Amino acid sequence: MSEALRQLLALPPRADGTPRQRACQHMEGWGMAVGATARIWRPETPQELRATLADARARSVQLTQRGGGNSYGDAAVPAGSEVLDLSRMSRILAFDGTSGLADCESGVTIEQLWRHALPLGYWPKVVSGTMFPTLGGAAAMNIHGKNNFAVGTIGEAIRSFELMLADGRVLEVSREQNAELFHAAIGGFGMLGVFTRIRIATQRVHSGDLWVRGVRHGRIEEALDFLEREQVNSDYLVAWIDGFATGSALGRGLIHQARYLVPGEDEHPIATLTLAHQDLPRSILGVPKSEVWRALRLFNHAPGMRLINAVKFHASALEVWQGPRRQAHAAFAFLLDYVPNWKWAYGRHEERGLIQFQAFVPRAQAAECFRALLECSQAASLVPFLGVLKRHRPDPFLLTHAVDGYSLALDFKVEPRTRAALWEHCGRLADCVLDAGGRFYFAKDATLRADQVQRMFPPGNLERFAELKRQLDPQRRFVSALSRRVLPELA
Ligand SMILES: Cc1cc2nc3c(=O)[nH]c(=O)nc-3n(C[C@H](O)[C@H](O)[C@H](O)COP(=O)(O)OP(=O)(O)OC[C@H]3O[C@@H](n4cnc5c(N)ncnc54)[C@H](O)[C@@H]3O)c2cc1C
Repeated sequence: MSEALRQLLALPPRADGTPRQRACQHMEGWGMAVGATARIWRPETPQELRATLADARARSVQLTQRGGGNSYGDAAVPAGSEVLDLSRMSRILAFDGTSGLADCESGVTIEQLWRHALPLGYWPKVVSGTMFPTLGGAAAMNIHGKNNFAVGTIGEAIRSFELMLADGRVLEVSREQNAELFHAAIGGFGMLGVFTRIRIATQRVHSGDLWVRGVRHGRIEEALDFLEREQVNSDYLVAWIDGFATGSALGRGLIHQARYLVPGEDEHPIATLTLAHQDLPRSILGVPKSEVWRALRLFNHAPGMRLINAVKFHASALEVWQGPRRQAHAAFAFLLDYVPNWKWAYGRHEERGLIQFQAFVPRAQAAECFRALLECSQAASLVPFLGVLKRHRPDPFLLTHAVDGYSLALDFKVEPRTRAALWEHCGRLADCVLDAGGRFYFAKDATLRADQVQRMFPPGNLERFAELKRQLDPQRRFVSALSRRVLPELA
């Protein structure tokens, strides 16, 4: 056997010394529009992870960390590197029923966490619109929820974590110990080290339900005014935006406002706190959920989505008329999980799929900037099929995406025919957002250029991050397609 072949077949040992299987796989961003084929490693314990890192060092191979693969763009996509899939390190190590503090391996998903916590009367403080991200991936992107204006990002709920560096050392990190690293690794998109263990606070809840009400708005300014005014009266706020509406109806849509129930308000908390009460229905209008994406595919073009958006807007009058209602936490938080694999409606082959463009804009500039994003997209005939508006607040993390303002997330369909034009279009929109003092979120990005990223963080933050990278990962072991694209000096 040649030395080259022997090296190719050499596998790092498991903790017990036996070799570990490795495979080559196409690894996509969640939106399917970007991806690459790479060899993939799936450590199940910190010992196996350390052995995998040692093997990568010995072979001078770079690694791309991946959790659940739920970032829309290329954050967890390899770039000439091998993939370190961390989703199998997924044990909840402890949960304190008195304080609600969870001690988890980083591959634990948001779903695992809420299913563990809810029957004990707790709900994660911050969740994304899907329950499938891992805590490691969520911390690496510093995810936010529909309550960002009230509780901040997930980093604010994290008490401490263990970070395994590329050389196999493990650092204990918290606000008190290694404080700079705490604020850099959270939101550091897997560039500084591997989260192996995360201690995170959860929220006490007195019911498995929330009070939810729908409020229609006729144009984007009305939604912004409502979100601004109602922050103090809400635990969650989110607005759906119809990207096809024009003129005086630009940015029309439906706001959902929710609040927790206070102690005693739920007469049957033991029943609503059960998992059975939370589980989403298995079928929609009699169609098994797993098949619904096929029906959505029939409408997945501009005229079809114009129709769906209009029907949704007009039908929402009924919801508003019905008034406030109680809804289970999971149903409210994970609306996007209702239809499994709905993204497949966008097409699954030949550079098809979707990208999300989420712009974070300071309060005073938001209305004008969001108007421009919607109008520009309509003028270019690249209309977003889905729009979502949220209120945010600043946070202390080095590469934070949040601002004292709002975000507008726009889902764009990707097709081979329009792909290049769409990337250029997003480039123009990004310039608009940066001119307004705005920022972007790496978990949702696929199109930003390196020069644009240089403009979006507070002065000095990127330099401090690059210095930490030099100290902690001098061989640049951790890279991704995202880091190559937006911060090539790190890769
Ligand atoms: C339908 C949908 C709705 C969403 N809604 C929201 C939302 O409301 N709010 C929001 O903020 N986000 C939202 N997201 C984005 C999602 O929450 C983030 O992309 C999150 O980071 C995904 O976690 P993951 O485990 O899938 O990580 P991946 O996507 O696999 O990886 C994300 C990043 O984390 C790094 N990473 C992964 N594991 C580790 C680890 N153990 N240690 C160090 N680095 C690691 C990767 O290198 C990568 O840079 C949504 C995504 C989808 C698909």
